Amino acid sequence: MERYDIVIIGGGLGGLFCGAILSKEGMKVLVLERHHTVGGCLQSFHRDGRILDTGMHYVGSMREGQIMHLYLKYLDIFDSLRLHALDESGFERIYLSNGKEYRHAMGYERFVDTLAADFPDEQEGLKRYCRILQDISRLISPQMLKQGKIADFNECMKYMSLSAAETIGACVKDPVLRNVLAGTNALYAGNRNTTSLYEHGIITGSNIEGCSCFVDGSQQLADRLAERICSNHGEIRRSSEVIQIHISGSYADYVELKGGERIYAKNVISSLHPASTMALLCDNSVIRKSFHTRMNSLSNTYGFFTTYLLLRPGTVPYINSNRWYYNTDDVWSIDKGRYKGCDLPFMVVISQPGSIDSGYTEVITILIPMDKRRVERWRDTQTGKRGEEYEAFKLHYSETIIDYICRFHPELRPYIEKVYTATPLTYRDYTGTPDGSAYGVLKDYHNPLAAYLPVKMKIPNLYLTGQSINVHGCLGTSISALVTCGELVGTEYLTKKISNA
Ligand SMILES: Cc1cc2nc3c(=O)[nH]c(=O)nc-3n(C[C@H](O)[C@H](O)[C@H](O)COP(=O)(O)OP(=O)(O)OC[C@H]3O[C@@H](n4cnc5c(N)ncnc54)[C@H](O)[C@@H]3O)c2cc1C
Repeated sequence: MERYDIVIIGGGLGGLFCGAILSKEGMKVLVLERHHTVGGCLQSFHRDGRILDTGMHYVGSMREGQIMHLYLKYLDIFDSLRLHALDESGFERIYLSNGKEYRHAMGYERFVDTLAADFPDEQEGLKRYCRILQDISRLISPQMLKQGKIADFNECMKYMSLSAAETIGACVKDPVLRNVLAGTNALYAGNRNTTSLYEHGIITGSNIEGCSCFVDGSQQLADRLAERICSNHGEIRRSSEVIQIHISGSYADYVELKGGERIYAKNVISSLHPASTMALLCDNSVIRKSFHTRMNSLSNTYGFFTTYLLLRPGTVPYINSNRWYYNTDDVWSIDKGRYKGCDLPFMVVISQPGSIDSGYTEVITILIPMDKRRVERWRDTQTGKRGEEYEAFKLHYSETIIDYICRFHPELRPYIEKVYTATPLTYRDYTGTPDGSAYGVLKDYHNPLAAYLPVKMKIPNLYLTGQSINVHGCLGTSISALVTCGELVGTEYLTKKISNA
């Protein structure tokens, strides 16, 4: 009977990142992924010869010496990634209902100068805002690694207890500029009443510092991590769904796969949503009832309805920025913005750099937020078998979305060859996130401790990781993986090693 040092449940970014670190540090690692492909939200898939991304589209802090770059350099995979820098003069372009375009530029100075050109009276407020973002970025910076820390978590907690919307409001007075600064809040499923300054700051700051997208899809990051695990003598098993974590005494003894196979390990890491991890425990009595109740009552972020437009090759120029089209006067309100019977509070339009060298795009991805209640009636169905009404629902939404987007980009319509769509239920079925929530557990600045979860459980050899711990996204999920691995190999040892990579 083979006994692993570490068994990791879930082969998304969180699980693979842990697997790559721990196998590099000499542990005998096995990653179990229920799907036939690794990646979770990093998965890319092929349709009609094009590459389409499930989730991750662009990432921050990937420039030489920046924090994500350092993490990936330590794992020896950065140089093999095909990344493309977004437009520095405006990688995010926000279109509010006044019809004007506002740009988020890269680099703090340029960010301030670009927006100050539109809002000259707000220059000082913009500088104040950027100083706050820089303070937050410093908490997870390369300098922290040098000091033997992943982050200054005490300071992080301070920002987790502050409101993003209120802080923006305190920095700048102009209501339009406030909307512009919060205009990318779908990156963290923003909510005026709950979103913390920490979440806003980590994500927005890292993108301002340097934002890139994946050429040929985000799957490459999952594949490179998986290759690294295997070259470090670790293993990955696909189509291997964990159905139970068996507890013996107060320890996790083995995990059971669908089909009955048992896999024994000294330690188990679960990268799943915490409520899903709780549901896997065979003996719930080891964990306090109050903890179960807390995990099961955590709210999740909204999901997305995604429309992929497949364009005739060589017709539509590649757009090197993300476009945010708002259909409301308040960027924080997603319950407004009806358009032809659909909820379209805003849409994010992303041009996929499939054939970047040609200068044309073949895929445009459009995301709109979608509450799980919209697809509730198909909850008990599976992908591909949800019936005609569901297909009609998706068609109605995608046609409305295309109609809306062609108001801004009329050049697209004649070149749309095919349309594919995904609802939160599709995400649920492909990534295993409850209700197809995009980013897992919803954080609330009023009570940050309730949602910022520890990686160590009452069961001493069971650890948590993944997007619901700390912050989601490429950077947030990687930080969580480091925290989890730090528990196993020593945080100071690990951080100094990354710092010297
Ligand atoms: C639409 C969308 C757009 C996004 N855009 C961006 C972006 O532009 N930039 C960015 O930084 N982030 C983005 N994100 C967020 C980012 O993709 C996620 O935060 C991150 O990839 C989550 O990684 P994870 O490992 O925590 O979870 P997941 O990716 O969900 O991985 C969990 C894995 O566990 C597997 N699994 C589930 N149950 C079991 C089981 N019982 N046994 C075995 N395996 C199991 C799943 O199949 C999955 O592979 C986006 C997310 C979405 C949904």
